[in-house]
Amino acid sequence: MTDINKIPARDQIVCIMKRMYQQKLTSLSGGNLSIYDAENNFWITPTAVDKGNLTSDDIVMFNERGEFSGNQRPSSEYPFHWGIYKKRNDICAIVHAHSPALIAFSIAGKVPNPRITPVSFQTCGEIGFAEYASPGSQELGYAIAEVFGRGFNIVILENHGVVSAGMNLIKAYERMETLEYTARTLIYAKSLGEVKWLQPGSTLESWMNPVFTGEMVPIQDASQDTSDIKKLLAKIVRRAYRQHLMVSTSGSASARLNRNDFVITPYGVDRNWLEADDLVIIQKQTRQSNNAPSRLVELHRAIYKKHKDVESIMTSQAPYVTAFAVTGTPIDTRSIPESYMLLRTIPQVSLADALQQPEEVAGLISRQSPALLIENLGILVTGENILHAFDRLEVVEFSARSLIEAKALGGLKPIDDQEIARLNFM
Ligand SMILES: [Zn+2]
Repeated sequence: MTDINKIPARDQIVCIMKRMYQQKLTSLSGGNLSIYDAENNFWITPTAVDKGNLTSDDIVMFNERGEFSGNQRPSSEYPFHWGIYKKRNDICAIVHAHSPALIAFSIAGKVPNPRITPVSFQTCGEIGFAEYASPGSQELGYAIAEVFGRGFNIVILENHGVVSAGMNLIKAYERMETLEYTARTLIYAKSLGEVKWLQPGSTLESWMNPVFTGEMVPIQDASQDTSDIKKLLAKIVRRAYRQHLMVSTSGSASARLNRNDFVITPYGVDRNWLEADDLVIIQKQTRQSNNAPSRLVELHRAIYKKHKDVESIMTSQAPYVTAFAVTGTPIDTRSIPESYMLLRTIPQVSLADALQQPEEVAGLISRQSPALLIENLGILVTGENILHAFDRLEVVEFSARSLIEAKALGGLKPIDDQEIARLNFM
């Protein structure tokens, strides 16, 4: 994986700002990023520069005495960045954005609760709230720094936006991106029903402390076939990120290598920069890679064992389909023939069962049920090959979106039973 922590601070800022803009998390002029480096210098984005075309020469540096240098003027919001660094010496990077779903919470005076999935909760933690003060003012700086001082790593700013922080820029960014998608999921879930919040206890414990650790074996030279499958899977994961089907480090994908072995995404590795060598090969009780496998590895294994026709499996926390998962709302696939043909009926399972009873849950998969809605997680799809599984993933997110949007128009008029019976024979 590209390790952006190894590049100079100004280049990291340009890289993450471009990613933020491409992900539609900031407008041309909004948002600002900063890094506090080991020499006590503080680097920040400039004011009034097109964030879509930022270059490293545009980044402004402050020294320890607070004097700045560079080709541009610093962001007018630099006082609160200073304030946070003074308050917390474990924070070395800050991301500030005016991303749409978090702005919705900000202007409604609310804080999104990340206890919808283990990844959201683990990535974001508890969320703070800072009361309104004018942008760029010292007063705003004090208000935000005070909330960070209480230990929060993400703070919603009333009628303004969001600030996230971390030990490095990618961690701060992943928090903000994950919370934006959490906020979208919560907004979409509103039209479906009550959210079933993730409770502290055994499910969360199983997530944090997975059963499968698997003895690590040295990475051997892979066959040409294995290398090709790994390259294709990594490419599809990066595409899933660009298509908003995977976010930061969330979402899993795997592909069968032979009767017993498969290759799967690693746990906790950024999906946007995933490379073939980051993937983990699972062979019986061993794994090849320095990375830990995705948390649902035992469910992937059980599905491959039980279903010889399944060649690829993917899970996603894409926001529309996850809105169904976190409210426990069944996905009605009788919308258009193309969706029904690809998705058929989608059984629902609890996250606890997906983690702790993989064999039983694998038994729910069939040609008539090639996907599973996993409560407090998202969707799992299977496919006859990698592209087939990816197609299902796209279709299920599109279908979930259409169902939510159709609610505003009076709801779904499902395809009738006679036509469904006919489609079942196709
Ligand atoms: Zn702002």
